[in-house]
Amino acid sequence: MSAQSMEELVALCKRRGFVYQASEVYGGLQGVYDYGPLGVELKNNLKAAWWRSMVYERDDVEGLDSAILTNAKVLRYSGHEETFADPLVDCRKCKARWRADHLEGETCPGCGSRDLTDPRPFNLMFKTNVGPVEDGASIAYLRPETAQSIFTNFKNVLDSTSAKLPFGIAQIGKAFRNEITPRNFIFRVREFEQMELEFFVEPGTDEAWHDEWVHERLAWWQDQGINGNNLELLRVPEEELAHYSKATVDVMYRFPHGVEELEGIANRTDFDLGAHTKNQRDLDITAAVPANDESNTRLAVQRQDDKRWTVPFVIEPSAGVDRGVLAVLNEAYTVETLPNGSKRTVLSLQPHLAPIKAAVLPLKRNHDGIVARARALKADLMKLGLGRVLFENTGNIGKGYRRHDEVGTPLCITVDFQTLDDETVTVRDRDTMQQERVNTSGLVDVLRERIA
Ligand code: ATP
Repeated sequence: MSAQSMEELVALCKRRGFVYQASEVYGGLQGVYDYGPLGVELKNNLKAAWWRSMVYERDDVEGLDSAILTNAKVLRYSGHEETFADPLVDCRKCKARWRADHLEGETCPGCGSRDLTDPRPFNLMFKTNVGPVEDGASIAYLRPETAQSIFTNFKNVLDSTSAKLPFGIAQIGKAFRNEITPRNFIFRVREFEQMELEFFVEPGTDEAWHDEWVHERLAWWQDQGINGNNLELLRVPEEELAHYSKATVDVMYRFPHGVEELEGIANRTDFDLGAHTKNQRDLDITAAVPANDESNTRLAVQRQDDKRWTVPFVIEPSAGVDRGVLAVLNEAYTVETLPNGSKRTVLSLQPHLAPIKAAVLPLKRNHDGIVARARALKADLMKLGLGRVLFENTGNIGKGYRRHDEVGTPLCITVDFQTLDDETVTVRDRDTMQQERVNTSGLVDVLRERIA
């Protein structure tokens, strides 16, 4: 099941506190969103799942958390100053601006006029000044991708970990692009998060590794609850490849507004490490003085046997966190008709992504014994480290179940009078709506089995 429209998802996100418009009290800021109490949990859980699979489950990848503010030279040598642009057209009639490659025909989507300017490149990077003097020398950028600082830290990580090829550096963090027309909720925004791996390999093995990572990433998205029928692979046509790419395969997802990119997996060759390295492509680097006087580092590895230097090739799986959140929400959103004819909205998130793992509900909100037992149970269950367990004292169990269905809480645990006698509680399952009586001593096993 999935949502029928973006509007349904936007409404749920606002109503239940997943996503809000940023700066809303002043009318918002276009292409910028804030994540609410449940959104931050879902987002953190998605990022944690990525980190677990990329870093913890492998021994050939290390993590990094680098700065957002970036020296302009990094983005000059990487080619972004010159080429990180989208084609912009102006409508001469209504003055609106559009991305030329998003137009249908040569017509203004705003007013229908055909009086448009020729496309011209518009650089997507946000520029700022560092320090109190606003001159050319103080210009810095908010990074447009997390990747560049992985490249510029390549030697640091190599030296401090003694990693050997093939190995990767993983990073999750914010990226900023001044998109011409942000749209489709959190799909295309100006401030977003990326989960990027740069996986460095021997030149010549790059194509096989590229295939391997496409396969891995497709499987990972399915582990996040995305139906394989809603995913497809798109080999990006040569004329549309980014300036650094030899080949790119996009993982496309059937979003409510259409099939679009969720993640790009690019073969960036030795382009970036080469660009930031002295004596760029010369593999026989022996000179002590950089030929490229802007960078003082050799971003390369030296072979043990013949002491030759190699600039590794890099395979980059780059996924958007916000697009990931939108995709898993869309997949999980289900409206069911119950046997009595009423409707129920349920968010069938994978348990590891659910913002709240379990809610502990006292049957009577004013009964001291029941409330105290429920509070203590919450504290015990939190010790499992599975994520957020919520104590919720509203006294209305039926309503609580409905609300937790709608936000994807896998289990609700009700503490009642009987609990005080025999230490049993009612455990209700989100998906089956089945209720079972479980001894509190067995709850740990139930949670481990269903949530972990
Ligand atoms: P698009 O063609 O949709 O503009 P892109 O090819 O420029 O995307 P990449 O540079 O490959 O995107 O970035 C890697 C990932 O970062 C994308 O797959 C996407 O998930 C995410 N991403 C890129 N731009 C945005 C954006 N404006 N809003 C949200 N996520 C984004």
